[in-house]
Amino acid sequence: MPGEFDLIYKYFAGHDHGSRVELGIGDDCALLKLRRDESLAITTDTLNEGIHFFKDTDPYLLGYRALLVNLSDLAAMGADPKAFTLSLSLPEARDDFLEPFAKGLFELADEEQCALIGGNTSKGPLSITVSAYGVTAADALRRSGAKSGDGIYVTGSLGLCALYVEAGYGRLKLDKSLLSSLCYKSMHQQCRCAFAKELCDLEYSGCAIDISDGIVGDLGHILECSKAGADLWLDKLPLAQELNTLVDDEQKRLELAAFGGCDYELLFTSSSANEEEVMALSEELNVPVTKVGIITSSQELRLFNHGKIVRPAAKPFEHF
Ligand code: ADP
Ligand code: MG
Repeated sequence: MPGEFDLIYKYFAGHDHGSRVELGIGDDCALLKLRRDESLAITTDTLNEGIHFFKDTDPYLLGYRALLVNLSDLAAMGADPKAFTLSLSLPEARDDFLEPFAKGLFELADEEQCALIGGNTSKGPLSITVSAYGVTAADALRRSGAKSGDGIYVTGSLGLCALYVEAGYGRLKLDKSLLSSLCYKSMHQQCRCAFAKELCDLEYSGCAIDISDGIVGDLGHILECSKAGADLWLDKLPLAQELNTLVDDEQKRLELAAFGGCDYELLFTSSSANEEEVMALSEELNVPVTKVGIITSSQELRLFNHGKIVRPAAKPFEHF
């Protein structure tokens, strides 16, 4: 069976008719030109029970997450969220599911002033699809925008969701209520839209991606699109505090932070000339930012740990 990305390009690429399509398949959002200095950013993501979340996940968390994963793609373009649609497939209509689900969904939607404008509801296995729409200035952040010499930065911290997944599969022994509060905490820190919009509007960055497949895999997407290489400093990765307290093995901690999916933090590049301004913005908007590497002209991704090149066995997360 082809991998996720082979499948998309083999069967679904190459049909973006019309001059309004400024950017089609291949980035975090597509861009449709509205005016000379404005584009509509569009993205969609599905959460399926048993694939993207465990059976019996708190519906409140699911509602929040269903929108968050889409807003995260808007953030990766520097887009300002405006509206979303919601398609729900439900085995049965139960108030004890729908009430907390809607509460989580609208907690984030209201916070970001993103309007629910439509959707679809049907009976079936639990599956949630959100499509989100945002507006960007003329030059959106793109996966193809990294330049040799740029610093590589990441917001927030990494590895909490990977820890949650490990525990969910019983590979780490953690209790369920702790798991749920970990997950809740990880989601409430992560909507990076306002920060990304400033990065974009102030032209501090021209390149970003959100971390859905693990930082190593997602940096790989940037490098492929930008035709560049990078040095990534694993020892500089901002590890979620819980990794340090709950995982003894340093190797395992690094593996979870570097390869674990679903962090939904922002990975971006910025010229070294803007370093002070980026850090000042981080302070002003209270969004932690860490420099974790540098873009090179070498065409390869080199991973360093305390100055030494390492070749980890783990692979980036793919959905197939
Ligand atoms: P993300 O993780 O940012 O949501 P993905 O890795 O899921 O992005 O997808 C990579 C790119 O492929 C995106 O531009 C997405 O819109 C596109 N894509 C995914 N599935 C399909 C599909 N079935 N048909 C067309 N484009 C797709
Ligand atoms: Mg993305």
